[in-house]
Amino acid sequence: MSRLLYQGVPGVADSVLRGLKPRTLYASACGTAEAVPFQGLEGSPSRTLFADPCSPISSPCSQVPSPSVPQSPQFGACGDELHEECGVVAVHGHADAARQAYLALYALQHRGQESAGIATADGQHLANIKGMGLVSEIFTDDVLSKLPGPMAIGHTRYSTTGDSALLNAQPIRVDSTKGLIAIAHNGNLVNLGNLKTRLEREGAYFQTTSDSEIIVQLIAHSKAATLVDAIADSLAQVEGAFSIVMMTRDRIFAARDPRGFRPLSIGRIKSPGAPDTIFFASETCAFDLLRAEFVRDVLPGELVMVSEDGMTSRQYAIGMPQSSCIFEHVYFARPDSRIFGRWVQESREQMGRQLARESAVPADVIVPVPDSGVTAALGYAEEAGLPFRFGLIRNHYVGRTFIEPEQRVRDFGVRLKLNPVHNLLAGKRVVLIDDSIIRGTTSRKIVRMVRGAGAAEVHLRISCPPTISPCFYGVDTPSKRDLIAANHSVEEIRQFIEADSLQYLSLEGLLKSCDGGEGNGYCVACYTGNYPTQWVDVEDILPAGAAV
Ligand code: SF4
Repeated sequence: MSRLLYQGVPGVADSVLRGLKPRTLYASACGTAEAVPFQGLEGSPSRTLFADPCSPISSPCSQVPSPSVPQSPQFGACGDELHEECGVVAVHGHADAARQAYLALYALQHRGQESAGIATADGQHLANIKGMGLVSEIFTDDVLSKLPGPMAIGHTRYSTTGDSALLNAQPIRVDSTKGLIAIAHNGNLVNLGNLKTRLEREGAYFQTTSDSEIIVQLIAHSKAATLVDAIADSLAQVEGAFSIVMMTRDRIFAARDPRGFRPLSIGRIKSPGAPDTIFFASETCAFDLLRAEFVRDVLPGELVMVSEDGMTSRQYAIGMPQSSCIFEHVYFARPDSRIFGRWVQESREQMGRQLARESAVPADVIVPVPDSGVTAALGYAEEAGLPFRFGLIRNHYVGRTFIEPEQRVRDFGVRLKLNPVHNLLAGKRVVLIDDSIIRGTTSRKIVRMVRGAGAAEVHLRISCPPTISPCFYGVDTPSKRDLIAANHSVEEIRQFIEADSLQYLSLEGLLKSCDGGEGNGYCVACYTGNYPTQWVDVEDILPAGAAV
């Protein structure tokens, strides 16, 4: 049975974890769970703000990054700080908002499979249920029936460790001086140290290590007269990558960071004679399942509010150069989504075409590493005039290699995940198309697998440049020491993965493939080491070491 956390659910006591004692919380984010009394109950006069009763409180892992020093999952004292790529959704104006949020999260499941949560509001109450596992495992009919109201926000999450991540599941529901707020975010803030120190001087009491709590504390401590002003004021103070959805008892808020790192789109279902149902989602593929129409993206630096009176918007920050994450187009987003004003499918196909122009090789067949290499391989095959074949078959019941939390699982997962089609590969000169090489070990296993199936030659082509630096904006990448391209030449990597040839798409080729005239500005820091926010050189923090 799933472990679930209930908050503010009519007829259900707060903090009930199925299979665990009510009103306990886990004190460690490092896997050493310890039950301690719940310290912040709704209505208690002793605190200005109450954190999620199942969020990690102070622990050896509760460091926040220093203002000038980027942190990666491997940098912290416990080595398991959680930097996730997540999906967020919000619904306003639907009789069964919880089920709509469920469907939207279902479509965004690829952005995180570790935990999920949905909070709903009905004008009076604000209920929140979250649990471990896939969206469909957590939100049964029975669970959804406990989430009443026409408004909802939802979150699906991946973390970098095997830690008990219910501690860090979202949405987070807090009772602040500005009232009850539920919040969920996708991304990673980078100036937490400064903000937390200042807030603590002002009397803030932190019970979690979550970026979301920093934002809610800023809202709670804002001197602005209205809630929307307090939110705008708070968002203007945080730096980094975030797409946020928030909900009070009667309003939904959605915002993107001023550089627009992470996607967030607005959708709508028109209802004749009634207000439209408004949706927000990390990717537009969620709108398709809801039969909602795409309206537009939330703009970088924009704060959107939806209430009974309709939708309003303001720019809380202007003038920052856009740096949307190009890796969303390379790998993370679904090809049937339109993000940053551009179809992912179109970008990936162009990457494949460009790759074929830059790195042609005599071959018999083009084979994608499924699933994320498929669209680029189609483009490559068309441009090269060579047959496209599914020479590797993926078992879809195993998680994606790049986002498996532990090395041991990852190594085993390659064999579990992929199997070669021998009769398509035997005796052929094969061009394998993949979207990235991270540590190199997975690529080597795949090359060996194809050669073991009888391929005469195996040429690996990668639809992006070498990944040489970690991401600090919410995508889980290993530290620099574990990134093979940070420490080895392309020829050394070729030798390591045992391919007959290896070539990457050039940075110019990638940017050209993802632009197409839309004029997007992209973050490409993991390919260049040049970060769009203020960083010290990552070499100062973690000297690169040989990884192979
Ligand atoms: S560093 Fe790479 S993964 Fe991170 S936001 Fe920039 S492009 Fe995306």
